[in-house]
Amino acid sequence: MKLFNIFLGLAFSLTLAISLNACGQNKSADKNSVKLTSDFPVFKTNEDWKKDLSIEQYKVLREKETERAFTGKLLYNKEKGVYKCAGCGNELFTDEMKFDSHCGWPSFDKEIAGGKIKTIEDDSYGMHRTEIVCAKCGGHLGHLFDDGPTATGMRYCVNSESLTFQKEMAVAEATKTKNNIDTITLGGGCYWCVEAVYEMLDGVVNVTSGFSGGNVVNPTYREVCMETTGHAEVVQIVYDNKKTSLDEILKVFFTVHDPTTLNRQGADEGEQYRSVIFYRNNEQYKVAKSIIDDLNKNKVYENPVVTQIVPFKVFYKAEDDHQNYYFQNQEKPYCKMVIQPKLEKFEKLFKDRIKKSDK
Ligand SMILES: [Zn+2]
Repeated sequence: MKLFNIFLGLAFSLTLAISLNACGQNKSADKNSVKLTSDFPVFKTNEDWKKDLSIEQYKVLREKETERAFTGKLLYNKEKGVYKCAGCGNELFTDEMKFDSHCGWPSFDKEIAGGKIKTIEDDSYGMHRTEIVCAKCGGHLGHLFDDGPTATGMRYCVNSESLTFQKEMAVAEATKTKNNIDTITLGGGCYWCVEAVYEMLDGVVNVTSGFSGGNVVNPTYREVCMETTGHAEVVQIVYDNKKTSLDEILKVFFTVHDPTTLNRQGADEGEQYRSVIFYRNNEQYKVAKSIIDDLNKNKVYENPVVTQIVPFKVFYKAEDDHQNYYFQNQEKPYCKMVIQPKLEKFEKLFKDRIKKSDK
């Protein structure tokens, strides 16, 4: 993303006629094939890796050592969730891909789609093996064998030290005990914009950018941009009912995006930008329906509201560099031209409802 955005920044300063859409950045960068300065997008010096990793992680990820068999902390883990690269957070495997291989290391029969793992021929120790490394930071993961017992026939034999594990729905579970905490999933165009607004609303506990409503497990941003996954860009909002309400959250939603253009927000065009509310229960459905009915009845917009109200099924978190995007990239043209005006509109209309702690 960084390089794509640098590219966009250059293109932008050369011509003001460029159309600012979120996904188009990737497409235009593809055509011009930006050259990477290192083999992997995440590059750190050995000194920095040592600072950021534990001694054991460093030995395995950066020096390609192997942890002793049957000692890894994730070997017997059977919880639902995602396995990420311990070096850079790249999401590599899900619990559904893990199987018990009895070989002494966590084993998976496939990887999350999207080229997250690279293979390297490895002739060390007088053996011919296929090494697997993280495609983002080059961290050593383990080896790939074609003797797997499942339908794929593959066995990704991975060191526990190379991985971190994120339990599914960690946030939702942690908050289940408090009955004033609720979650809603909304699609209102580019998730960078929608996320930035809700980060500022008082009563919002957590906002995560991701994808919902499609048919591909754990899609990447790039896959969603290709419009083959059926997913919409969404934000998952965890909120405290004592400080805000679904009613207020949806009022903000209808203020900061145009609900009358189904598959388009400004220059962002396509199914992934559809206006949609994913409800989790009857109560949420009723609130959403009644607000939309009111907007239409009172002709708040020139054209009818086309926002879809559909039952929530599953949410997939977007890549880490898509989280909190606006606040990390405020100087980028897309942020200045597209996101900032939406934030300003929000700040004007909901000025008493902005979180007190400054960003
Ligand atoms: Zn990595």
